[in-house]
Amino acid sequence: MHELSLCMRISGIVDRAAEGRPVAVVHLQVGQLRQVVPETLRSCWRLVAEGTPLAGSVLDVESVPVAATCRDCGHVTTIEQALILVCAGCDGTALDITTGEELLLTALDLAEV
Ligand SMILES: [Zn+2]
Repeated sequence: MHELSLCMRISGIVDRAAEGRPVAVVHLQVGQLRQVVPETLRSCWRLVAEGTPLAGSVLDVESVPVAATCRDCGHVTTIEQALILVCAGCDGTALDITTGEELLLTALDLAEV
């Protein structure tokens, strides 16, 4: 399962970053091109964290919309649902994806000790 293996990788990173300090919230940015379901990611996190020092911590998933910049007119088009890569400014198709591929651990909130 995609989300489960992601969570295992994230927990490894968080473990190292926290250096044994208790973690309350893990903030993650996930681009919509990653095809990750935030709800599934959060429940996998609970499974992965169980029985580890990360048990009880919450995975906060921020979904980043897909946006692309037109090479012809510079217009930034946000692609909502259908992945049709056409510039909203000039109907051009020479677009560079600028966001939507993120998988970033943005912050850790440490628990009060
Ligand atoms: Zn354009």
